[in-house]
Amino acid sequence: MQDIQIQPSNQVLHHSVIVFSKNYMPLARINLKRAVVLLVTGQAESLDFSSAQQWVLRSPSIVLQVSEHIRLINSHPERRWKVPPVSRREVLRRDNHACQYCGSSKHLTLDHVIPRSKGGQHTWNNVVAACVRCNARKGDRLPQEANMIPRQNPKAPVHPAIAFSDQFWKMQPANPEASLN
Ligand SMILES: [Zn+2]
Repeated sequence: MQDIQIQPSNQVLHHSVIVFSKNYMPLARINLKRAVVLLVTGQAESLDFSSAQQWVLRSPSIVLQVSEHIRLINSHPERRWKVPPVSRREVLRRDNHACQYCGSSKHLTLDHVIPRSKGGQHTWNNVVAACVRCNARKGDRLPQEANMIPRQNPKAPVHPAIAFSDQFWKMQPANPEASLN
């Protein structure tokens, strides 16, 4: 365990900590400074995973044990999160700024997978990022007619905490029992 003085310039404050919800769902990665605030104000507790790193922070008035994983003590009221509107910015973000037909990151536009002229809606599952060239090549045709199928099935974005949670579990070392097959 490392024993460290709290100083604003201290290197340790650049470490990051994973915050879990009261129900042990990983929510976000925050810096140690923010974790300290949550711990000192009693909004969170350190989780004692044996594998986790721990730091002891000392100030003139407190000694604080900070773990790499902390857990919120109160189930904070679900912050309202709504699926964002289908805008250029949000669609490009979802599609990682890549044309869903050729992968280009240049001259991106929005393409209606099923053209609007054929009843396609301006919805999350019908709009993808497409470069100007692919958009023009596909024109007013259905994906099958143009033989241009988006690389990913377009879907509405999920709650950031859910996305983080999925990512977090993917990053965990594989369970040896699970990899026996
Ligand atoms: Zn393209």
